[in-house]
Amino acid sequence: MSKVKLLASAREVFDERQVIRLERAVEVAARAHEGQRRASGEKYIAHPLAVAELLMEWRMDIDTVVAGVLHDALEDTELEIREIEEEFGMVVAFLVDGVTKLGIARSGMREIDSYLPATRDNLTKLLIALGQDIRVVVIKLADRLHNLRTLKHLPAGKQKKIAKESLEVFAPLADKLNMGRVRVEIEEISFSYIDRARYEYLKGQSKRYLGRASGKLARARAGIEEVLKREKIEYEMDGRVKSIYSLHKKLAKTGENLDAIYDLIALRIIVEDKTDCYLALGLIHAIYRPMVARIKDYIAVPKQNGYQSLHTTVITPDEYIVEFQVRTREMHEYAERGLAASFHYNEQKLTDAYAQGKIAAMPANLHWIHDLQKAAALIGAGEEVDLEKMKLSMFRDRIFVFSPKGDIFDLPEGATVLDYAYRVHTDIGDTAYAFRVNGKIVKFDEEVKSGDVVEVVTRKDKRPNVDWLGKVKARGTKGKIRKRLKEGRE
Ligand code: MN
Repeated sequence: MSKVKLLASAREVFDERQVIRLERAVEVAARAHEGQRRASGEKYIAHPLAVAELLMEWRMDIDTVVAGVLHDALEDTELEIREIEEEFGMVVAFLVDGVTKLGIARSGMREIDSYLPATRDNLTKLLIALGQDIRVVVIKLADRLHNLRTLKHLPAGKQKKIAKESLEVFAPLADKLNMGRVRVEIEEISFSYIDRARYEYLKGQSKRYLGRASGKLARARAGIEEVLKREKIEYEMDGRVKSIYSLHKKLAKTGENLDAIYDLIALRIIVEDKTDCYLALGLIHAIYRPMVARIKDYIAVPKQNGYQSLHTTVITPDEYIVEFQVRTREMHEYAERGLAASFHYNEQKLTDAYAQGKIAAMPANLHWIHDLQKAAALIGAGEEVDLEKMKLSMFRDRIFVFSPKGDIFDLPEGATVLDYAYRVHTDIGDTAYAFRVNGKIVKFDEEVKSGDVVEVVTRKDKRPNVDWLGKVKARGTKGKIRKRLKEGRE
């Protein structure tokens, strides 16, 4: 990725002032990374430029793209956060800082294999929680995707480790954000490094199958096109081939029979609106026999990540089994680009659609999603939205610790194990008897660090005493202890 190419793409989407800002960021980053090289031997700056290009492809806003250029500058160079803030503003500084912290949090974690499956999912949550501003996570995804694309330059051991982590943390992360295209690429590259032989074998199988099926597929497609045209439904149609990694997972589940996989190829029909989706579905069923149990209405009942579509598997007169997916343009854009679509700078259509409920709600268990929903609603109502306000104050001074079961709790900086006990449950705090951090017994006022596993031993007859007030940091905890002390006196 060269500077010239990046700026040329930027000119197509950003205005003159924004391009000048980006150019300046490239200069600053190039100077900061001067003399550094990638494992491939090329100049280091090629990597941040490639990340910025990806972010532009995903149509992120200018602050995110500028932050992409600078994303490695804090950790690996002399450049300081203050300088970034002075020159590029608060938002860019915040984003670069966030990406840097995310990197530090990750490198402090244990090998992915040492986690239980439930905890791995929590790791994803942790990444999101640490991200707070969704744009931080999106930059991290672009960073990881480019590192995967250039993985061949690393030694084999490292390749496998990165591939594994990408498959288990970053692919689900992309999926949670409904960034379908990114998830698939992460999965495909990762899987090809984890099990090259299997990857090549399945690729060959898939290709051969598609070759055999191409005639029947073309007839199935022609049949439906004819009725769509006759009914004057505006549409676009394309085929999507199941990714090798999904195929691998499915085959592992269903036995090694490729013929039993009905969605190896799916025909995708994109129409104008929701009504046309159901009309098109009706037409498909009018000419091909549906496998009733396989009809899925993800429009009425969207997937947890907001994905919407109608899926149906039908049998054509050729006795060919094929899946159709029907969706609107908005649903399609959203499925491919996911949350990144919210930051589209040219058209607010998607955000509007989201605000009006045409696109499903996001999983609502994370703070930032509430904020995003609020922001989307405001944008939908034609109001100006301060992206600044979307990031929570939590980000800079919170730490995240694990329970022995792998649940994650966030605490303020300086919090002690006693704070943690009260954070888990007031009763646990009240009856706390002893504490273990990472398996070692500690005192009540031991400070916790991000990534610590904290265990509380309780005893029914235990009660708080006045000394405890000096052993906690969180404001809420003191209130809880005082309340209990008062009750004790009555
Ligand atoms: Mn990087």
